[in-house]
Amino acid sequence: MITFSELGLDEKLVKATDALGYVNPTPIQEKSIPVLISGTKDMIGLAQTGTGKTAAFGLPLLHLVDEKKKHPQALVVCPTRELCMQIVTELENFKKFMTGMNIVAVYGGTSISMQIRDLKRGVQIVVATPGRLIDLIERKAIDLEQIKYVVLDEADEMLNMGFKDDIEFILQNTPKREATWLFSATMPAEIKRVSKKYMKDPFEVTVGKTNSASQNIDHQFFVVNSHHRYEALKRLIDFNPGIYGIIFTRTKLDAQNIAEKLTRDGYDIDALHGDLSQQQRDKVMGAFREKTLQLLVATDVAARGIDVKEITHVINFELPDDIEVYTHRSGRTGRAGSTGICMSIVMNKDVYKIRSIEKMVQVKFNKLELPSGKDVCRKQFFSVMEKLLNTDISHGDYTTYLPMLQEKFADVTKEEILTRMAALEFDRFLKYYENAEDLNVREQQRRDRREVSQSMSQPSGRQRIDSRRPVQYSDGDTTRLFVNLGTKDGFYKSSFLQFILDMSELKKEVLGKIDMKDMNSWVEVDKKYASQMIKSIDGKNYRGRRIRMNDANSR
Ligand code: AMP
Repeated sequence: MITFSELGLDEKLVKATDALGYVNPTPIQEKSIPVLISGTKDMIGLAQTGTGKTAAFGLPLLHLVDEKKKHPQALVVCPTRELCMQIVTELENFKKFMTGMNIVAVYGGTSISMQIRDLKRGVQIVVATPGRLIDLIERKAIDLEQIKYVVLDEADEMLNMGFKDDIEFILQNTPKREATWLFSATMPAEIKRVSKKYMKDPFEVTVGKTNSASQNIDHQFFVVNSHHRYEALKRLIDFNPGIYGIIFTRTKLDAQNIAEKLTRDGYDIDALHGDLSQQQRDKVMGAFREKTLQLLVATDVAARGIDVKEITHVINFELPDDIEVYTHRSGRTGRAGSTGICMSIVMNKDVYKIRSIEKMVQVKFNKLELPSGKDVCRKQFFSVMEKLLNTDISHGDYTTYLPMLQEKFADVTKEEILTRMAALEFDRFLKYYENAEDLNVREQQRRDRREVSQSMSQPSGRQRIDSRRPVQYSDGDTTRLFVNLGTKDGFYKSSFLQFILDMSELKKEVLGKIDMKDMNSWVEVDKKYASQMIKSIDGKNYRGRRIRMNDANSR
């Protein structure tokens, strides 16, 4: 694997990537950096957020720009204030060892005079949203005369948001432009037209497939009746106790209502939508980044450009009208090589949309059943107990209180304490789910499975449900492995699947069927990889217990 120092970058930049802990360039960085540092080549990068595209253009920009000249030489244009700030934060990290380099972010919704002052301080790189940039040009507060490099980031989003004329204006008013780099997740005809008009023989880099969703994401969908949508959302959240996620709605009203309802039900959640002032938006985003908020409910426009690390789940309360938007939503999770889950709550009539998205992103979706009330309770129970066991008691002076505690609890048994603890933490779930109904649309589900199995030539409905691992091996090609972990360990199928794949560093394609029981599970794995899986899992510890994995037939 190639390293940053082999890409031809200035050594101060290589040092900065080291300091950031970047070990190897991502594919888009590896392909574009050596070409872009020539400074004269136009480029089109078909890549989404999460691929490392900011560094793919940011590092070459910093390499090319002259620190000694104190006027704007590079311009990065992007659709939103959030993205603007994120790009500047990343560039600041990269320029850590370039003391003479200055970068400024200019965006709407905040004082323009401060930004004008910043610009006068002698900056080399300007990161801007189109509207505010035009405003600054009209006030003659920024001079584009000396701009050599223009980057258009999330170009498709900018066109969606109606910035087409602004972008053309910017491109027409940068007469000394030597290179234009355009990044976009999708390639609508309008972008092709703009690139043809303003770019010369651009070098093209596609990361993954055009319009493709990240391969690190498990795409799941759940079919419910429309009046169960909110209930289904709540169930999905409750079934994933460690969730740190974004819920997408189509309307501001839905976003607001869901945030209010879930707040009343005791969840740490807030809404992000177009009716909020910039100050309110910043407050919500700040709380979400700090994880004071566990969940964010957002409309598509409001969530544009958000880059928050470690998001575990994206939930589509409803599918977007425009299926291309799905890629933007799901791309909020599974960033920079980590894994994520994108769950969509759909009605029967929307299943065809899922099929269209599957075709567009070329990834199979997993149709899953909503967990029952019992499933949720069990999951929550194990999560609470797990939290109890893992609580760090090494830092407090608990010995001071121990005699008092012992006295108070002298007549209470350990079992009773545990039961009381469980009741304290867990009662609300038991009560809430006591008479929980089955939310899955069953009749249609069967019909739909038939359709799916026909359209995808899969042998049976049951296999389709299990086919988050494509069933492609005959018995002769697979080995059945036994493992002493099961649902009692707090796993459900997809988290167990993720766990064994993470441990063994194998791809999910090597797996066949998984049978899970309370205490044990059986996993079918491509014969070629069975020993690798056993070697990486057998004997390891899981929550203080030794994992045993072996060939099921040899027991
Ligand atoms: P982006 O696609 O630019 O939004 O980047 C997504 C995330 O990946 C950012 O948080 C970056 O800090 C991180 N990142 C970018 N390049 C690398 C790399 N080569 N190694 C590790 N992380 C990276």
